[in-house]
Amino acid sequence: MNPESTIYDLCIIGGGPAAVAAGVYASRKRLKTVFIAKEFGGQSSVSEEIQNWIGTPTISGSKLASSLKEHLKTYAGDIVEIYEGETVIEVTKKQGDNSVQADYVFSIKTDKSIYSAKAVLIATGSSRRKLNVPGADKYENKGIVYCASCDGPLFADMDVVVIGGGNAGFETAAQLLAYCKSVVLLHKNEEFKADEITVKKVLSNPKMHAILNTEILEVTGGDFVEKLIYKEKETVNKVELPVSGIFVEIGSTPATAYISKLIELDKFGQVVVDPRNQQTSVPGVWAAGDCTNGLYHQNNIAAGDAVKALEDIYMWLHGK
Ligand SMILES: Cc1cc2nc3c(=O)[nH]c(=O)nc-3n(C[C@H](O)[C@H](O)[C@H](O)COP(=O)(O)OP(=O)(O)OC[C@H]3O[C@@H](n4cnc5c(N)ncnc54)[C@H](O)[C@@H]3O)c2cc1C
Repeated sequence: MNPESTIYDLCIIGGGPAAVAAGVYASRKRLKTVFIAKEFGGQSSVSEEIQNWIGTPTISGSKLASSLKEHLKTYAGDIVEIYEGETVIEVTKKQGDNSVQADYVFSIKTDKSIYSAKAVLIATGSSRRKLNVPGADKYENKGIVYCASCDGPLFADMDVVVIGGGNAGFETAAQLLAYCKSVVLLHKNEEFKADEITVKKVLSNPKMHAILNTEILEVTGGDFVEKLIYKEKETVNKVELPVSGIFVEIGSTPATAYISKLIELDKFGQVVVDPRNQQTSVPGVWAAGDCTNGLYHQNNIAAGDAVKALEDIYMWLHGK
C-alpha cells in the first residue's frame, strides 16, 4: 500500500510514553494508524534510573525506550504503520468544515513524506529550555550541560553550578553532590520552586550552597567554561564565580511549533486541551503528554493522557 495515497483513521506524532501508549490502544481498537516518531523513548531516555514507571520497580531510560518500542511493535501488526526517524514539519486541515466527522482529513507533512488522516494525536513532548546569555552557545557541551545524568560524572571533583531552583535543579544538585567538589545552585526568584523536603535534604549537604534572587549575565572561559558571571538582584553586585561545569535546569519548551498555525497554544507554546478527553481547539486533533497545558508532566501521566485521547478518538471516528 502506498502510504501517501492512504487516508488513515489516525496519525500519531511522537515516540515517547504518550505516543506509544496511544499506538498500542490504536492497534487494539483496529484504527488504521500511521505512527511518526523522530525517535523512540522520549525525554527520560537519558535517565540512569527511573523508579516510578508503574509496574516496573526500576528501569534505565535506554531500557524504557527499547521496551516502549518493543511493546508497540508487538501489537502493531498491519494496523499501526511505524515510521521512525521522520520529523513532522506541518499539519494542515485538508477538509472538514462541516460537522460530519468522517469528512475531516488532515495532511501531515514530514521531512520525508506526506500522510493523510481523519484524526491526529499530537504527542511530541518537550525539550530543555536553553540558557540565553552571552557565552551560552559557545560553551554548550564545553562546560555547559543540559543533562546531569548523562554528563555529570565528567565533572567529578570539580566545582560546578546548577541554574534553576525547581525540582529538576535540586535533583540535579543531589546527583552532582555524589562526586563533585562543590555545587552552587542559583535561582532567579526569592523562593525556591522545588518541594520543601527536597530543598531541605539537598541543602543539608556541606558541599552544597544555594543563592536566591540572581540573574545570570554571562559565561566566559578559554576552550572550556571558566567563569559564570551573575548579578545579585538585591545589591546589584556583579559576581564572577570560577566554575568548571554549569548544569542548566530552567524548564522546557514544548515541541509544538509545527502545529502552531492550526491549533490553540498557550503563552508557553503548550497545546490547550480539555483535560476530560484531551481534545484541542480543532475537532479531529487531540494532544497528550508534555506538549499539553496539563498541570503535571510525568511518564505515567503522558501515557494516561494518551489512553484517554484514544478512547475519545475511537468514539469520534465512529460518530458517537
Ligand atoms: C532527565 C529527565 C528525567 C526524567 N525522569 C522521569 C522519571 O523518573 N519519572 C517520570 O515519570 N518522568 C520523568 N521525566 C519526565 C518524563 O520524561 C516526561 O514527562 C515524559 O517523557 C513525557 O512524555 P511524552 O510522550 O509526552 O513526550 P516526550 O517524552 O518528550 O516524547 C516526545 C517524542 O516526540 C518525538 N518528536 C518530537 N517532535 C517531533 C516531530 N516534530 N515529529 C516526530 N516526532 C517528534 C520525540 O523524538 C520524542 O520521541 C523526566 C524528564 C527528564 C528530562
